[in-house]
Formats: sequence, structure tokens, C-alpha cells
Amino acid sequence: MAIIIKRVDSCVEDDVQNGVMCGGCGIGTTKHTEPTPCRCGKTMEPFTFDFSRRIPGYVLIRCDCGKKIECSGFTNTCSCGRAYNWNGDELAPSDQWGEETGEYRSECYLGGSAFEQTAEQNVGYI
Ligand SMILES: [Zn+2]
Ligand SMILES: [Zn+2]
Repeated sequence: MAIIIKRVDSCVEDDVQNGVMCGGCGIGTTKHTEPTPCRCGKTMEPFTFDFSRRIPGYVLIRCDCGKKIECSGFTNTCSCGRAYNWNGDELAPSDQWGEETGEYRSECYLGGSAFEQTAEQNVGYI
């Protein structure tokens, strides 16, 4: 059985960042805070982004193989092949889960760069 190292409750993290937003095409970035020419020809004006978000809780466990795993999705697969659910309980062997087991992991790691991409790609954010 995996050893549960700690449990982290979900919480809301305030994350308000100053940036610029184009009123023409909706593109925004936090790389600039002064009016900046947009590639659509208009100007990105100063804008306050509210990236505040709910951070899901997770359970940090130590796999039988010795690796630490953050269980924050429905399936959390260790490199040794074992899989655990959100509560740190071991699941059936991963070869019964098909190709989908990796998806939740990547979704759970939204770093700063991911948010910049979101703002830039999210046309019509306002
Ligand atoms: Zn624009
Ligand atoms: Zn393992």
C-alpha cells in the first residue's frame, strides 16, 4: 500500500495581475503594463486580469516503488505503472485504463506561462 504523506485541502488563490488587453481583437498579455501596439493594428490598453482560481486539493503519497505522487485527478499514474485515485487509493493495474490516464496530470499543473497563453489565446475573454 502507498503511504499517505499529506493531504492538502482545496483553496482559492488570489491572483490579480496587471497587463494590457486589446479592445479590438481581445488579445491580452501580462508582459506589458503600458499601452502596447497590437498585431491587429489597434492598441492594447492597460487592463487588470483576475486569474484568481480554485486550487484543487491533493493527496501526496509515496508509491510502493518509492516515488512521491500528487494525487489530484481521478487517476494518477506513477512511472512504475501503479495508478492511484484522488484519495491515494491504488487502482487496478494501469493497462486496464487505456491511453487516457495521463490527461489529468497535465491539467493539474497550470503554471504562470500557461495563464499567459490562456490570456493570449482566449479571444473575447471579457
Ligand atoms: Zn488586437
Ligand atoms: Zn511507483
